[in-house]
Amino acid sequence: MNLFELAPELQLFWWTAMGLFVGSFLNVAIHRLPRPGMTVSKPRRSLCPSCARSLTWKENVPLFSWLLQGGNCRGCGWRIPWRYPLVELLTALLWFAVAWITPSGEWDLILVRVLVVSGLIVATFVDFEHFEIPDEISIGGMVAAPILSFLVPALHRETALALVFSSGDSVDRTGAFLASLAGLAAGGGVLLLIGWIGKLLFRRDAMGLGDVKLLAAAGGFVGPGAAMVALVIGSLVASVAGVLNVARFYWISRSRVRKRAASKAPARSLASARVAGRYLPFGPYLAIGVGIVLLAWNHVVGWIPR
Ligand SMILES: [Zn+2]
Repeated sequence: MNLFELAPELQLFWWTAMGLFVGSFLNVAIHRLPRPGMTVSKPRRSLCPSCARSLTWKENVPLFSWLLQGGNCRGCGWRIPWRYPLVELLTALLWFAVAWITPSGEWDLILVRVLVVSGLIVATFVDFEHFEIPDEISIGGMVAAPILSFLVPALHRETALALVFSSGDSVDRTGAFLASLAGLAAGGGVLLLIGWIGKLLFRRDAMGLGDVKLLAAAGGFVGPGAAMVALVIGSLVASVAGVLNVARFYWISRSRVRKRAASKAPARSLASARVAGRYLPFGPYLAIGVGIVLLAWNHVVGWIPR
């Protein structure tokens, strides 16, 4: 029985269900990759991060176990963070979106796209918690991008440069491979340049190397033009989030300071909010930008002013 002989609706269901299970594996990666001595395959079994008890298969069913257990570990009663069901649901939704927008016969293209989306999810949640992006994702992506572009040239079907590098009038392996390398250089290069200018202007590190590697990898998958657009979208979303974050800290510290001394509250709250608001990871916003150009490039192209 071949999956691709199934009705399109069943194929969509299959990719979504796979996404749900992969999402639960991504949770393991998000927990373990930033922790020294742990890998995604060591320890072999899934453990409760709180009581280290091995989980039974019943406790390992994505989403449903969390719902059935009321969000608690069966052994120690540990409150399972929202991140776990959220990542599973998000992965399933994004795998559904990829399968929805990609013609169902092009399973190789679907596979590469869900792989990229999954890497972005891991990078996002690790960066939020630890302010770093695992090299397994960023450097792994930088290595995988040109190889997968060569194997699945359709990945760069909408990359203008890939067509220039191709010999015929459609994107071939050489064209996709070279466009991927150009995307790597452009994505990593632009952030290195911004970081260098930022250092000259503000005399402190403005750009993390993790972000540089992440956009380099992303550029390898979406091409140089889309990588630049992803950076612009990511920066816009990040500035909105930054303002909201400062406002949130202002609110929190204002209500705290108010309890003590009512007079100087606003000025002091704003100062501490500025400090707190500065520590905002950029990776998640970059990932949102990359996700948008990956899934909707032909729509995004329409918004770009010419
Ligand atoms: Zn436990």
